[in-house]
Amino acid sequence: MLGPRRKNEFCGVAGFSSKYPVSRVLYFSLRSLQHRGQESAGIATFNGNKILVYKGMGLVHEVFNDQSLDYLVGNAGIGHVRYSTTGGSKEENAQPIHIYTVEHEIAVAHNGEIVNVDELRKFLGEMGSAFETRSDSEIIARLLAYEITKHGVIEGLKRMSSRLVGSFSLTILVDGRVFAVRDPLGIRPLAVGKIHGGYGIASESVAFHALGGKFLRDVKPGEILEITPEELITHHVYERRYKAHCMFEYVYFARADSIINGKCVYEVRRRIGQILAEEHPAQADYVVPVPDSGRAHALGYAERSGIPYAEGLMKNRYVERTFIMPSQESRVMEINMKLSPVESVIRGRRIVLVDDSIVRGNTMRKIVKMLKDAGAKEVHVRIGSPPIIAPCYLGIDMKTRNQFIANGRSVVEIAEIIGADSLGYISIDGLVKAIGLSKENLCLGCLTARYPVPIKGEKIRFQSDLENFEI
Ligand code: SF4
Repeated sequence: MLGPRRKNEFCGVAGFSSKYPVSRVLYFSLRSLQHRGQESAGIATFNGNKILVYKGMGLVHEVFNDQSLDYLVGNAGIGHVRYSTTGGSKEENAQPIHIYTVEHEIAVAHNGEIVNVDELRKFLGEMGSAFETRSDSEIIARLLAYEITKHGVIEGLKRMSSRLVGSFSLTILVDGRVFAVRDPLGIRPLAVGKIHGGYGIASESVAFHALGGKFLRDVKPGEILEITPEELITHHVYERRYKAHCMFEYVYFARADSIINGKCVYEVRRRIGQILAEEHPAQADYVVPVPDSGRAHALGYAERSGIPYAEGLMKNRYVERTFIMPSQESRVMEINMKLSPVESVIRGRRIVLVDDSIVRGNTMRKIVKMLKDAGAKEVHVRIGSPPIIAPCYLGIDMKTRNQFIANGRSVVEIAEIIGADSLGYISIDGLVKAIGLSKENLCLGCLTARYPVPIKGEKIRFQSDLENFEI
């Protein structure tokens, strides 16, 4: 998945408690989570007396400098990188969200999306809360403030967690105490690690490697975990019979070197490619990835098919993320700026082009054309996720059905639209096998239109068709 399609997705969170100052540890952990959100970044620390917050729009290294990191005094803190899922792209929605109760100061960083947000907003409104933003993350912070005021810190965290429906991986600062909370279905990832002088929490295990630390384990689905410089304290775990880990983290979103729910993302992607080669073989001269998202998938395809792997498309690493121009002509230029074909690989050859997913199909159409213009004899497109046909309500901005090229179209029709000589998607069973977790423990909502939580107007997973039978 490349370029213009990569919008409004996910967030990254981090939290550290240490014997030493944490602002720079947070800074570097957020930089390693930058792929999870490029819109805004923020850090909150506790200086022993009060919570200090610094946040702004832009990439982590654009938002922070030595001066702001020096300002963020304290040995406990949380951080956030954001690309909006609800609430829109505005500075006021940057996180962590910082609020006061009578007795405490709270800062919250959220990755995920809350489904029962309207109901909670109504409840909190009736209880006298006023809201500064439209974001669901503010609802979480205000609900937590309400529950902590009534029931104390630990009971308040439990009650907040039990009232939220949807996906939430949270890092929370209550005065100088650092907590991690993960939704009981484990939809978004959250990892615990050891760093010099303390412990940390981060969306992905890569954050600890970046700090020379050690990844210890996932935060358990439903766990309320406190970290101190000396220990990890599990206050509670909300158990569910089945989990709903997002398949898209493995297919596309997480960094390939992360380990999520015990599975190495790189190895999952490689297995996806291998299974794709078995399910959709092709007669071709080279297997070419769409960089960088299709690399591991393409490698797996090449391994299993025996067709040589070649870098037939080069990515310009220095194209600005903000290179956005409105006209159609400009958009074509944009993709040409980001990718260019290696003619010696492409000209006169039959190419298997591998990418992680297709959402709208616009980018893939342009890439296929680019390869044909560079002299490719045939382009056979292979995709590492099954067709995306339904919206995501749990953290990715894929909200309207008619934006999906696969919605209501056959594979042959899609191949025609993108200009490919053939097209093959991995099957759902193939994907599940590649991930290595059981189907019951994965969210496949955008592939099946059945979701792990109740969503108005949608079917819930495990629901048989008979239950939907209406007389
Ligand atoms: S609907 Fe799709 S993208 Fe959204 S959480 Fe489920 S698997 Fe992930």
